[in-house]
Amino acid sequence: MVTEPVRILVVGGGYVGMYTALCLQRKLKPELKRGEVEIVVISPDPYMTYQPFLPEAAAGSISPRHVVVPLRRVLGACRVIVGEVQSIDHAKRTASFTTLATAEEGTGALDIAYDELVLAPGSVSRTLPVPGLADHGIGFKTVEEAIGLRNHVIEQMDIASSTRDPAVRDAALTFVFVGGGYAGVEALGELEDMARYASRYYHNVKAEDMKWILVEASGRILPEVGAEMGKYTVSQLRKRNIDVRLETRLDTCEDRVAVLSDGARFPTRTVVWTAGVKPHPLLAATDLPLNERGRLKCTAELAVDGAPHAWGAGDAAAVPDVTAGEPGKECAPNAQHAVRQAKVLGENITASLRQQSLQEYAHKYVGSVASLGLHKGVAHVYGRKLRGYPAWFMHRVYHLSRVPTVNRKSRVLAEWVLSGLFKREIVSLGSLEHPRAEFELAAGGERPKES
Ligand SMILES: Cc1cc2nc3c(=O)[nH]c(=O)nc-3n(C[C@H](O)[C@H](O)[C@H](O)COP(=O)(O)OP(=O)(O)OC[C@H]3O[C@@H](n4cnc5c(N)ncnc54)[C@H](O)[C@@H]3O)c2cc1C
Repeated sequence: MVTEPVRILVVGGGYVGMYTALCLQRKLKPELKRGEVEIVVISPDPYMTYQPFLPEAAAGSISPRHVVVPLRRVLGACRVIVGEVQSIDHAKRTASFTTLATAEEGTGALDIAYDELVLAPGSVSRTLPVPGLADHGIGFKTVEEAIGLRNHVIEQMDIASSTRDPAVRDAALTFVFVGGGYAGVEALGELEDMARYASRYYHNVKAEDMKWILVEASGRILPEVGAEMGKYTVSQLRKRNIDVRLETRLDTCEDRVAVLSDGARFPTRTVVWTAGVKPHPLLAATDLPLNERGRLKCTAELAVDGAPHAWGAGDAAAVPDVTAGEPGKECAPNAQHAVRQAKVLGENITASLRQQSLQEYAHKYVGSVASLGLHKGVAHVYGRKLRGYPAWFMHRVYHLSRVPTVNRKSRVLAEWVLSGLFKREIVSLGSLEHPRAEFELAAGGERPKES
């Protein structure tokens, strides 16, 4: 009698999805060889994004291709489907998903059955109903957004350099970032540094002409590095003439004017929204238990609470922090937990298939490192506080050690060495976003409008 292989379905190809699948294909090698197990990964992109490198990609220190890891190459023993899971019926052990082909064929979603489910779709930007935000805001979670923002900033400098209208120039040179976590602070720090450098090559745009504003609703920024280093970061940013506004919110950004809760008004074409994340909406389209904040209810063994054969980890999952010493505390949504949880998750699924006992996930947060631009940084790791160049250097060493695959490590290192020897790239390739524009114009169409 031929028995069907046990199918492990991994939803999401990010930190958790990729590392769990990597661990599973290593641990379950004999079962995979004998055809007893099958691992299927469904993710909207054929690559995993190493998000901590996005600010450096935006600054041009790392090329976009090297910030991502091709799933098909690293997950050779898995079946990778580029698609989006739309809903999950765990009672029936079925997920329904769409692909680019289903959209083209108009066939609607396809169903896939599974035996074990790893649900890791991560998080999405936590937006608020701020008027104008949906029309003008820019996020900073994907490689496309990071590169789009880099092109946009340089394009604004080109507009400012060529306009004769002072109002247009002022709006073009005003950059508003909302949210003082590491995504917002690092993105602002790196982009301001890049724009400052680029301004050397403009005859009529100086670094002092630009306004960079960081808006944070709470009284501190970078909570990940602790209160003292957060204060240090504020002072460093202010020394660079960056306008850091604490206990301030963005009220509206309609008609390209950012209005803050302290009454300030900034005409601007750039509002970057990095005010936190919320669990992925896919979780609500499942029959799995969620907590009051919409995260998947998980046990310390990374199993979904009360749903046998379902597993979760990363930003999407509420995993108890067993090191906290107080009940009800959850692991924070960050890469430090995601990557370690993925390893335990892979080992636990393997153990469960082999009827062995499961281990608890226990990791005490060790602190964080953040880059604030070239040769500038801040760190608070294992109780040690570092500032400036040493922190920046540690940031690079840490992330180089963490970025997956030797191939990626070598490419990123080579880029850093080369950018140390030669000058930085300061071109905007925004036209890459409209590859057909030139041909359409030649064929009698209209030039696309600037967004
Ligand atoms: C700019 C930036 C900088 C950061 N820097 C740091 C840092 O320095 N240190 C740190 O610890 N953390 C950092 N983080 C946070 C860290 O990247 C996240 O905590 C981590 O990526 C979470 O891993 P995850 O697997 O849960 O989610 P993700 O890595 O986001 O992966 C989710 C995956 O699910 C896929 N997916 C989404 N919807 C579906 C669907 N419907 N069907 C199938 N797949 C789907 C996504 O495409 C993605 O591949 C940073 C985040 C950002 C945005």
